[in-house]
Amino acid sequence: MFVTRFAPSPTGRLHKGHAFSALTAWTAARAAGGRFLLRIEDIDPTRCRPEFEAAIVEDLAWLGLDRDGPVRRQSDHLSDYAAVVHALGTRGLLYRCFRTRKDILDAIGDAPHGPAEAARPGPHPAAEEAALLAEGRPFAWRLSLDRAREALGGEAWDALAFVETGRGPQGETGRIRARPETAGDVVLARKDAGTAYHVAVTHDDALQGVTHVIRGEDLFEATHVQVLIQALMGWPTPVYRHHRLLVGEDGRRYAKRDRSATLAELRAAGVTPEALRKELGF
Ligand code: GLU
Repeated sequence: MFVTRFAPSPTGRLHKGHAFSALTAWTAARAAGGRFLLRIEDIDPTRCRPEFEAAIVEDLAWLGLDRDGPVRRQSDHLSDYAAVVHALGTRGLLYRCFRTRKDILDAIGDAPHGPAEAARPGPHPAAEEAALLAEGRPFAWRLSLDRAREALGGEAWDALAFVETGRGPQGETGRIRARPETAGDVVLARKDAGTAYHVAVTHDDALQGVTHVIRGEDLFEATHVQVLIQALMGWPTPVYRHHRLLVGEDGRRYAKRDRSATLAELRAAGVTPEALRKELGF
């Protein structure tokens, strides 16, 4: 059974770019006689708002996109994501990172081999870590690429791959070798949220039986990390389909700043769902 999802973060009103993404996923699900799920990715307590979640549901209904099953709200399942972080931690694959964003950026400036090295800051020396812990300083958990590689074994590491049926930003398509090293030692539990996007998204794709991830090409690079997490957790890797990003009249991709492109504004201006679907090519 073909299962796909639309997984917005409720940090603002949906705009035309979201509509394009949701229409792409919904159309694929309906064409395949499959399921279209709605997942609210609201693990970031500082940026997500319940009123935007309600607006997402309303906007999708206006667009005529019916969904299958209940809406999954990630903030209701934080303990599930904490369990994943814990499982990886007990296998020795994570390390504490007390560094601030500024520390990391400063290190990138100083690093002899450039950003890739600084994105892998490595564990703190034991004494330093003990002192920072004793001071009660907040820390994130990072995934150690070195330990992940050791845990998987070189052969499995070299076989990490995914199938791309759309296109990445450089036209990447077909069977793609995953390169998690490009992203460095990613944060799997943020200082403030106890989890992080890569954990919640891979956990839910696996739990919900998502067979096809359909989303914008801005998330293509994230796939490389997500394939590694799937391998470490023994989860299947879905088929991926990244789509182009819509751009506004100024040639820039739609973002929160483009208030005139929100579905709410379009609706208020008298645009019909049929007209918008047509404009977006559906
Ligand atoms: N929640 C993510 C976003 O709004 C999308 C996650 C995904 O499709 O994998 O950017």
